[in-house]
Amino acid sequence: MKMDTTVADLLHLVGWKAVSSVEYPEKRTIEIHLERDENFPCLCHRCGDRLRAKRGIYRSKVRHLPIFGFEVWLIFWRQKRHCPICNKARSEQVPFLADESPHLTTEYVFWAAKIMEISTPTRVAELVNLDEVTAWRIEYRHLKKLKRDYKIPQPKRIAVDEVYARKKNLYRGESRKEKFFTIIVDIDRKKVLWVSEGRKKEALDEFFKIIGPSGCAEIKSVATDEFDEFRQSIEEYCPKAKHVYDKFHFLRNFGDAVNDARNFLFKTAVPGTVARRKSAPKYKYNFIKRAENRTEEESQDLKDVMESNKMFCTLELIKERVLTMFDVGISVEEAKRIFNEVGKWIFEAGFPSLKKWYRRTSRIWSKIENYFTERVTSAISEGINNVIKSLKRRAYGYKDMEYFKLKIMQVAGYLKSRFFPNGKFDLLDGSKLIPISEG
Ligand SMILES: [Zn+2]
Repeated sequence: MKMDTTVADLLHLVGWKAVSSVEYPEKRTIEIHLERDENFPCLCHRCGDRLRAKRGIYRSKVRHLPIFGFEVWLIFWRQKRHCPICNKARSEQVPFLADESPHLTTEYVFWAAKIMEISTPTRVAELVNLDEVTAWRIEYRHLKKLKRDYKIPQPKRIAVDEVYARKKNLYRGESRKEKFFTIIVDIDRKKVLWVSEGRKKEALDEFFKIIGPSGCAEIKSVATDEFDEFRQSIEEYCPKAKHVYDKFHFLRNFGDAVNDARNFLFKTAVPGTVARRKSAPKYKYNFIKRAENRTEEESQDLKDVMESNKMFCTLELIKERVLTMFDVGISVEEAKRIFNEVGKWIFEAGFPSLKKWYRRTSRIWSKIENYFTERVTSAISEGINNVIKSLKRRAYGYKDMEYFKLKIMQVAGYLKSRFFPNGKFDLLDGSKLIPISEG
């Protein structure tokens, strides 16, 4: 077969035609010279109106997609003419130029942005020989574009968690809760759906407002920690959803109470005794651990302490009993029975920290109980958490909160070009998609 296609023939640019191409093997560069199609109207690049009298012409050199490992540059003359609307000389509109830079084509920018989805702008800049600032700008604008077209896939079960986003104040006297992101995760799809600023009622309200009453009505369960403002938001917007208090937060609170009880016994133990020595703070994890997870040495340590002071037996018994609530297959009724039973033991033993924990937990029991029917947790997966941590390690995360938010929604959610086939957001599985109208 005879190859008679030139590189120039491969270009299909609206309003422009390629007239020649020159190859520079030593620079691994191809230059393609373009001419504008005279039938194509000459429009103002700012306002789009038809330009009038010529004011000059200048040479443009624009980067296009590489081919065969060669950098490709498009070279053409760009006109400057008088625009009656702007009432000044304006450059003509060139449809294939990127918004991000007049030295790059839209296709080039899209291609570079796609590589940035799996790498960092800095690395991509290195790979394709682009300056770093432009690379960052490309990524940011790409993300903003995707977010404009993004729709929220209707969730059935959501988890609400928060991450600490920054240390620095954005304004004087800013409260700590402004420094968090509230992250809304679709439990079934395992994807971040939305990120809002702050740890407050309004942050969760924002999500519920976006999906609207019909979207809220389809939510069956919401898992959160015990933060009261989240409860208020859920009661207002999703009163029919089952609100589940998170098991990991529950366990952490319980672990803290057990640790305080251990410390109480440690402080009241006679100095020099085994009970005193082996209940010191450095052993604290041994008292929170499940018996079956202890090493032989740890088991021996605990046995020694329990022999030395019987109160440690009671503490161990209470702790083991509470943890069995989260064994596989425990029903709501069984969990409730265990909780009641443990209550009796705690009040008989009289550990102040555990009594306090028990009273508090009793008050919110109905939402903890929901765990045993819904079996969901608010803790964002380790994967998502690691992503956020690694993003935070880069200094820019603190500087531009909007960028940080978009990055979370990209890496752990749907702001990736593969979810935008043909430029429109679509999961291609018939999911109901809720458009976002902001501002
Ligand atoms: Zn104009």
